[in-house]
Amino acid sequence: MSIDVTGVTKTFGDFVALDNVNVSLPTGQLTALLGPSGGGKSTLLRIIAGLDTADTGTVSIEGVNATKLPPQKRNVGFVFQHYAVFKHMTVAKNVAFGLEIRKRPKDEVAARVDELLKLVHLSQFSHRLPSQLSGGQRQRMALARALAVEPTVLLLDEPFGALDAKVRKELREWLRRLHDEVAVTTVFVTHDQEEALEVADEIVVINEGRVEQVGSPDQLYDEPANDFVMGFLGEVTNLGPMTLRPHDIEVSTAPLLAGAVEGTVSRVVRIGFEVRLSVLTVDGQEVMVVLTRTHSRSLGLVEATTVWLTPATGAVVIPSMRPALVG
Ligand code: ATP
Repeated sequence: MSIDVTGVTKTFGDFVALDNVNVSLPTGQLTALLGPSGGGKSTLLRIIAGLDTADTGTVSIEGVNATKLPPQKRNVGFVFQHYAVFKHMTVAKNVAFGLEIRKRPKDEVAARVDELLKLVHLSQFSHRLPSQLSGGQRQRMALARALAVEPTVLLLDEPFGALDAKVRKELREWLRRLHDEVAVTTVFVTHDQEEALEVADEIVVINEGRVEQVGSPDQLYDEPANDFVMGFLGEVTNLGPMTLRPHDIEVSTAPLLAGAVEGTVSRVVRIGFEVRLSVLTVDGQEVMVVLTRTHSRSLGLVEATTVWLTPATGAVVIPSMRPALVG
């Protein structure tokens, strides 16, 4: 394992930010720490980086107990949302900085900077100042700077958080490709489910200081450990005592299947090729159902249609933790 976090607890006064967290991340993996705001993701990342210390527990990096090592002895590179770049230095100088303070030979530094700027597609901007770059280009520069000293671990805290949606999307695809090329063990913090699902090999879901689940994007989506994970990774609704995804509900206009729940369509909203129904069941539960426009049309669904709902074959269904009945 590249990173082993064992029994880490961190409190701020009375507040428990991390509660006995255990995570093992293999070498070369791209891992997302995903969870709602305030869940403890950044605190965990900072403890791995050595920027913060745990109250109890250990952090080991590449088999070395790093719990008490200062950040500069951990061989980690990090990039934060608002990265502190050297504003008066050119892009090339910024990238070279870590190598120069390590007193590497000049020609070695120049070659490495060239190679890194190529990697992050900034070669043509090497003589610019950071203020002359776009937000996305600045973050790529920050990544090149973090990679310059060949860290064993790269830690990214919401690296694209401050950028607009389109640039964010481009950069996350780029990060995935970069990681495939460089394969440095990388951990990035995000609260964006889509970003984690699209980019990461493995996702650690963190909520209220605890690890809710660790798994591949498919595992988390298809086999969520609990209704928190299920709800955090996609839309959910309740049907009787079950929590499931709105597109995993079969709709019929006749009571064909045993156990089908009867209800009345109370609202129909069409968004592109998708139709979203609110169905009020005879038990007073409001169920959200999503189906294709073609399917909805073939069933002739309009407001006040009587329908019967069942979980579709193969649906991910978990017992509901929330009250089943509303209204
Ligand atoms: P976000 O996505 O909003 O950055 P996060 O999951 O990264 O959230 P953390 O930044 O790790 O969350 O914070 C976890 C909790 O610990 C929060 O409730 C935060 O207010 C608290 N916390 C973090 N740092 C400190 C500190 N230095 N002093 C007191 N409380 C802190």
